[in-house]
Amino acid sequence: MNVTIIGAGLGGLTLARVLHVHGIDVTVHEAESSPMARMQGGMLDIHDYNGQLAVEAAGLEDEFGELILEGRQAMRILDRDANLLYEKVDDGTGGRPEVQRGELRRMLLDALPEGTVRWGRKAAGARTLDDGRHEVTFEDGTSVVTDLLVGADGAWSKVRPLLTDVTPVYEGTAFVETYLFLADSRHPETAKAVGGGSMVAHAGSSDEGINAHRESGDTLHTYVALNRSLEWFAAIDFTDPAAAAARVAAEFEGWAPELTALITDGDTSPVLRLHYSLPTGLRWARVPGVTLVGDAAHLAPPNGEGANLAMLDGAELGQALAAHPGDVEAALAQYEEAMFVRAATPIDDAVLLESLFGDDAPETLLELVRGDRN
Ligand SMILES: Cc1cc2nc3c(=O)[nH]c(=O)nc-3n(C[C@H](O)[C@H](O)[C@H](O)COP(=O)(O)OP(=O)(O)OC[C@H]3O[C@@H](n4cnc5c(N)ncnc54)[C@H](O)[C@@H]3O)c2cc1C
Repeated sequence: MNVTIIGAGLGGLTLARVLHVHGIDVTVHEAESSPMARMQGGMLDIHDYNGQLAVEAAGLEDEFGELILEGRQAMRILDRDANLLYEKVDDGTGGRPEVQRGELRRMLLDALPEGTVRWGRKAAGARTLDDGRHEVTFEDGTSVVTDLLVGADGAWSKVRPLLTDVTPVYEGTAFVETYLFLADSRHPETAKAVGGGSMVAHAGSSDEGINAHRESGDTLHTYVALNRSLEWFAAIDFTDPAAAAARVAAEFEGWAPELTALITDGDTSPVLRLHYSLPTGLRWARVPGVTLVGDAAHLAPPNGEGANLAMLDGAELGQALAAHPGDVEAALAQYEEAMFVRAATPIDDAVLLESLFGDDAPETLLELVRGDRN
């Protein structure tokens, strides 16, 4: 069987690795020109109820363990005046260890045979051939024909149209992403406010918030959360970093300066990340020889689960293919049914709250978190 994956994100690479573990050959085509073509974004907490199961299926528990950044499961919740509302220390027992996304991707790449990933191969489209196989064409004018095609190509998948006409819609929210480097010495008050792990600053409404994280070393990575229209963001000139930062910071007027410094004192240009999503519960009728994993299948606004789910999709699809030698359709049907259910089921509140806070969080805080999720 000839397996072709489009996209070398966490979903596609986990699938490739699990197939490799089971002795199934695979080729991954990735649009980016090399593993280092772009910064891979910040830290990810990898959960014991999904992402870590994928790591186990990939046989990479030891390698994963070496990537974990100690102490980063600490959490603080502040109000807009930087008063501490809640704090949880990282005692090493939490089920959500934090790793750098780029290092996780590198771990998966290193666990694949040389040449498995073909870089600089941007899919332009895909079609079904008369014999039921699929042909993918690339922007460089080349094409491949494959028995099994897997779209792991994220939000704007070029494989998805083979399965459904549904496309992502804007959710009305976005993050503006900033970084502060060497924060302990250059921004000590801000570094103190963020603490050793993650920090959420809230003003009681979910229309604005500042979420920051201490990454490796003393880099502070911030997602400034804003519920605003596309037009509102379009009016900001993100090619002028200082003006863009000032415009975003203006929405936080009156907030503590150690918090707004995360916006105004950034060492990188602010980057706008608009949140698009596919409808919850999206399904499609089985189409022989093609399926999707990760954001391509169930894009959702960032809720801390997307990368974890993409990895689990990849792992379960790989395991299903290995368990049904010679019967790809049985494997795809088994994988898709479980994936559809998983993607449509919010993580149980009790599981989430236990996982985030243990049993020591005040009821008012739990209500806040529950409210944010509705
Ligand atoms: C700001 C932000 C913060 C987030 N934070 C978290 C978090 O803390 N925890 C968490 O679990 N999730 C988080 N997510 C969600 C998470 O990033 C995604 O759910 C996850 O990356 C999906 O993985 P994937 O492999 O399906 O897709 P992607 O990571 O999008 O990978 C797709 C790959 O396909 C490639 N590609 C795209 N188009 C083509 C093409 N035409 N041809 C070839 N290759 C192509 C891309 O270059 C990329 O390498 C966050 C998302 C955002 C936007």
